[in-house]
Amino acid sequence: SIPLGFFSGIGAASKRGILVKGGNHLESLQQLDTVVFDKTGTLTEGVFEVTELRPIACSDEELLKVATLVEQHSNHPIAKSIQRTYASYGEVTESVQGYQEVAGSGVVGRFGADTIRAGNARWFKELGYETLDQAKDGTYVHVARNDVYLGYIRIADNIKGSTVEALARLKTLGVRKTIMLTGDRQATAEAIGRQIGIDQIHAELLPDQKVEQLELILKQADGRVAFVGDGINDAPVLTRADVGIAMGGLGSDVAIEAADIVLMTDEPKQLAEAIEVARATRKIVY
Ligand code: ADP
Ligand code: MG
Repeated sequence: SIPLGFFSGIGAASKRGILVKGGNHLESLQQLDTVVFDKTGTLTEGVFEVTELRPIACSDEELLKVATLVEQHSNHPIAKSIQRTYASYGEVTESVQGYQEVAGSGVVGRFGADTIRAGNARWFKELGYETLDQAKDGTYVHVARNDVYLGYIRIADNIKGSTVEALARLKTLGVRKTIMLTGDRQATAEAIGRQIGIDQIHAELLPDQKVEQLELILKQADGRVAFVGDGINDAPVLTRADVGIAMGGLGSDVAIEAADIVLMTDEPKQLAEAIEVARATRKIVY
């Protein structure tokens, strides 16, 4: 049977916009050793602004349009930012055939006889493209039509309002280690990591590598491990952690389904509140 205290804990959590799907998860929160975060949409807002268009031998508008032709089919925060930016130029009425999303890499589709790709430098290098340097801050979306590299769209994300406070509070609450896992490039992950004061970062990870990294973290932990993500390219990690925590507002339905705990406001500081509720619950039980 479930101790009465856990019911009151679940109720107290729900009043704070924290949905806990069972008393055992409150127990896990009491024994948290490590908290692992996804970057995009979790520690950052996941609402990218386009900061630079760098076309080669085409106009800004054409670069954006080609990217939008494929990105219009993606729900990734990167795709949404590109769709929003192109909307100020015009509307995309055409569509691509054979659209595919390559998780952690980018998107591809056929437009007439042409193959269009938009994605990161690692993927483009694998495909044999020579990309422009990524010397400045931010996330680069490279664009190609067939074997012709068209340039890049540089975009930037903002750190969420409560991220810094959340990480500091976790430490006060006895969490030993905080870690960021991201598919984004090393330089961007490091820049964000420095600003928010997280203990460790692991960047340029494909979805499978995020799972492998989490398994290493589980082995090294001295207590329970939580993963906090939005479910876009990280649902497998969410289910593998001792406690899977989803961001409710931005997060995908898959994440909300797969998670043990859902944070309704998307603010990382709600995690600290959840731990505080779990602790108060324990006092009632014993
Ligand atoms: P994160 O781990 O930061 O949440 P993802 O695993 O979702 O990031 O994606 C990793 C990287 O893959 C992104 O930083 C981007 O370079 C690339 N990527 C993923 N989806 C897209 C997309 N729809 N368009 C362009 N690039 C993408
Ligand atoms: Mg993600």
